[in-house]
Amino acid sequence: MKPESHMMSFGYNPDWSEGSVKPPIFQTSTFVFKTAEDGKRFFEVAYGKDSLKKHEQIGLIYSRINNPNMQILEERLAVLEEAEESAAFESGMSAISTTMLAYLKPGDLVLFSKPTYGGTHHFINNFLKEIGVHSIGFNHDENFEVLWGRVKKNNHLDKLKMIYIETPANPTNSLIDLDIIKQFKSKMLKEFNKEIKAVVDNTYLGPLWQKPINFEADLVCYSATKFLNGHSDLIAGAVMGDHESILPIKTLRTFLGSMIAPYTAWLLTRSLETLHIRMTQQEKNTIEIVEFLQEHSKVKHVFYPGLESMGAKQNEIYKKQCLSGGAMISFTIEDSEESAFKLLNSLKLIKLAVSLGSNESLAQHPYSMTHTDIPNEEKKSIGISEGLIRLSVGIENANDLIQDLAQALEK
Ligand SMILES: *Cc1c(COP(=O)(O)O)cnc(C)c1O
Repeated sequence: MKPESHMMSFGYNPDWSEGSVKPPIFQTSTFVFKTAEDGKRFFEVAYGKDSLKKHEQIGLIYSRINNPNMQILEERLAVLEEAEESAAFESGMSAISTTMLAYLKPGDLVLFSKPTYGGTHHFINNFLKEIGVHSIGFNHDENFEVLWGRVKKNNHLDKLKMIYIETPANPTNSLIDLDIIKQFKSKMLKEFNKEIKAVVDNTYLGPLWQKPINFEADLVCYSATKFLNGHSDLIAGAVMGDHESILPIKTLRTFLGSMIAPYTAWLLTRSLETLHIRMTQQEKNTIEIVEFLQEHSKVKHVFYPGLESMGAKQNEIYKKQCLSGGAMISFTIEDSEESAFKLLNSLKLIKLAVSLGSNESLAQHPYSMTHTDIPNEEKKSIGISEGLIRLSVGIENANDLIQDLAQALEK
């Protein structure tokens, strides 16, 4: 069966809960053991002193370690990503920071694609830096040979431990070539006999439109706040990967206490039932809006993966690793804050807010909002101009969205 068919019931049996067709919310902190022997055995497994026997179920202990709502959600998230396992978190940032902390130690080096999500950028360049983790950022137009040469010159290559990629980049929609993972992995093995972890933030295109696991990513991170939930009513995160790669992350999560809460997990599980139809409708609306914007005289440039205007190299990457351009559009109008604000303040149906991937369409001004932290010169050099608008397309009627944009552009 396809993942969308599994989203209604996978990992849950109504017999466990009085025939309830949906899992109840297990709003409990702790679980009663049938016997002291059971309690001992559950702890042995939870703390890794022994592994599960064939057909043995992991025992419920305490909701920081495990909870049925978290477990059902994690099983479904793994199905969606076609991964062995997943770990659910209270936010996307806790998923990303816990993943980095589980693998990066003082002295290690992490390579990361730029521009990355603001919170991730801050975590790498401030917190990780302070504890002695080195980092080197790279742009979408740097190919493997150039990047390898640059890192080698810094004399840091033997310390390389992780490559972290976010593609498409926010808000420019530039694609980073995922083949760089395979290239780094094999060259590190050959030259330093060293294995590295590859992590991809798949929030923008996953799980429907991009499959980083097929490009040798070990771990795929999400802000589940965005498309996975799709209703702008919770904050959550997730990491997917093989059992061995997920284990240290789950262990650290237990001690940082950054696991998802039962009610949040329940809400997110409910959202996953409609993920496929929501994203499909968002994509359909987006294609219509892109066409409208491309033809509008007040619109200077439209940034959307797969468009010919993104350039030949970008389109080569697009054909290889994307199944769709997604539901995020960036476009420029006259290059001034005044024009951009006029447009944003004139929108009626589309809401002026950050965040993305939800049922309702949202628009914002990256230059002064999500990316305000980046120095102005750097912003301009990576394509974040004052006339740039970022639009997250929802499931409203496409024509209504177009009419809303048309009246705002007119103003
Ligand atoms: C929103 C977002 C995050 C952070 O997730 P939170 O759920 O807000 O903690 C990380 N990466 C990307 C690409 C995002 O859009």
